[in-house]
Amino acid sequence: MILIVDDKPENIFSLKKILEINNFEVDTALSGEEALKKILKHSYALIILDVQMPGMDGFEVAENISGYSKSKDIPIIFLSAVNTDKRFITKGYASGGVDYITKPVDPDILILKVKTLYRLYEQTRDLNEAHLALRAEIEFRKQAQAELRERVQELRSTLESIPQIAFTAKSNGTIEFVNQQWYSYSSRQEEFPETHPDDPEIKEQWEASIRENRPLEMEVRIKALAEGSYQCHLLRTTPIKEGDNIIKWVGTFTDIEDQKQTEKRKDEFLSIASHELKTPLTSIKAYMQLLERAFSTELAAAADSGNYLKRAQFQVDKLHSLIADLLDISKIESGRMKFNKKVFRFDDLLTSSIDIITQTNHDVRIIRKGKVEELIYGDEIRIEQVILNYLTNAIKYSPDTKDVVVENSITPEGHILVKVVDFGVGIPADKQSQIFNKYYRVEETSHRFQGLGIGLYICSEIIKRHSGTFGVESNANNGSCFYFTIPKYTGQPI
Ligand code: ADP
Repeated sequence: MILIVDDKPENIFSLKKILEINNFEVDTALSGEEALKKILKHSYALIILDVQMPGMDGFEVAENISGYSKSKDIPIIFLSAVNTDKRFITKGYASGGVDYITKPVDPDILILKVKTLYRLYEQTRDLNEAHLALRAEIEFRKQAQAELRERVQELRSTLESIPQIAFTAKSNGTIEFVNQQWYSYSSRQEEFPETHPDDPEIKEQWEASIRENRPLEMEVRIKALAEGSYQCHLLRTTPIKEGDNIIKWVGTFTDIEDQKQTEKRKDEFLSIASHELKTPLTSIKAYMQLLERAFSTELAAAADSGNYLKRAQFQVDKLHSLIADLLDISKIESGRMKFNKKVFRFDDLLTSSIDIITQTNHDVRIIRKGKVEELIYGDEIRIEQVILNYLTNAIKYSPDTKDVVVENSITPEGHILVKVVDFGVGIPADKQSQIFNKYYRVEETSHRFQGLGIGLYICSEIIKRHSGTFGVESNANNGSCFYFTIPKYTGQPI
C-alpha cells in the first residue's frame, strides 16, 4: 500500500486517482503527524510526501520515519512545488528519501518512479525475509552441530570407559576415533589391528560392509603388540542413523580368547573321554557276544540268564551309540569327519533304515508315503544315521502315540525330500530355530526324556556335507515334522 501525505485534499485526490488507475492501493494523511501515526500502525511499501506542509514539514516526517526500525526501509518520494533548489533536493535525500519530484506532477513520470520504487521495496523486503530465514537456518544448524558435538563427546567418553577395543568411523568408513585399548593392538588410528594369517583381513571385510551398508560381525584373531601373540576377538560394527541415513559407525572388538580356550579344552576333553570310553566298551561287547554264543549252545535251558544278557547288550549298544555321537562331535570340531561317498538307490536305504527301527521297536507303526526311484551320491552309513536319528527322535518324543509317518518325494528342484512326521510332544515355535544347535535341548521336555542334545546337530552337519537342507515344522503338543533334502544324483559326482 502507498501512503500519500499532503495537506491539500485536492492534491491528494488527484494523486490517489492516478495511482488507483494503475492498480495501487492507496492510503492518505493530511499532515505529518497523522502520517507518523499511520506509519506506526500499518505497513507501507512507499510514501509520497509533500515537503511543504504546515506544522511538521516533509523533511521532518522523513527524519522521524528513518528513526523507526519498522519503517526505516520504506522508500519516500518527496513532492515539492517550490523547493526545486539543489540544496533542498540534497536535504530530501539526506533525510532518508530516495526520490524527488517537483510539482506540477507529470503522471507518467510519477507512475514510473512509483513502480520502480515499489519493485525496489518488494525486492528489499524479499531480500530481508530471505536473510532472516537464512539466519534462522544458520542458528538451527549451529545448534544441531553443537548437539551433535556433545553427543559425539558423550559417545567417546563411553567408549573410553569400556573394556573392549572401540572405534567410530564416518559413514564412508574412515576411522575418526579410537579408544585407548586400540593402541594395544594397532599403532595407528587409521589402521586395523593385524590379523592372523589364516583369518580374513579386517580391512577387506570392513570395506565390503560399508559398501553394502550392513553391520559386520566376525570372529578374528588379532595381534597384541606387546605380547606378539594373536588373541581371538569378536568384532561387531553398528550403524548410527539419522532418519534413513547412516551418519556414523561404531565398532567394538571383544576379547573372547578365554572363552575360545575353554571351548577348545572342552572339545579336547570330549574327544579324549569318548576315545577312552570306547576302548573298554568294545572289549565288553566282544566278551558279551562270546558269552551269548556259549549260553545258546551249552545252557540253552537257562533262558532267563540269556534274557539278562540281552538286556545288558541293549544297554551296551545304547552306550556305544552315545559314545559314537560324542566321537562324531569331536570329528566335526576338528574337521576330521570323513565321508565315503558312492552312488546308490535312495529308496533301498530308506527301507532298510525303517526295518532297523521296526525290529527294535515292536509297538511302533511306521506308515510310508511316497516312493522315489532316484539315485543319490553320498555316504550311505552317514545318511542312514540321519534317518535313524529322525526316526528314534520321532518315537522317543511321542510316548503316547504309536504312529510315525515317513514321506518321501522329489522337490521341484530335483532334490530327494524325506519327512518324518510324529504326533508327539512337539516343539514350541520360539525353540525351533535352535533345535539343530550343538547341545541344545528343549527345556520344557528335557526332564522327561534322556539325551545329550547332539543328534540333530550331527545330522545337520551330515546333510550340509551332502549339499542338502534340513528343518522342522511343529506345534507344541501337536507333533513335529522333521525333514531333510539331498540333491539326487544327476550323473556328475556332487
Ligand atoms: P536329544 O534327543 O539327544 O536330546 P537331539 O539333538 O536329537 O538330542 O534333539 C535335540 C532336541 O530337539 C531334543 O532334546 C528335543 O528337545 C528336541 N526334539 C528332537 N526331535 C524331536 C521330536 N520329534 N519331537 C519333539 N522334540 C524333538
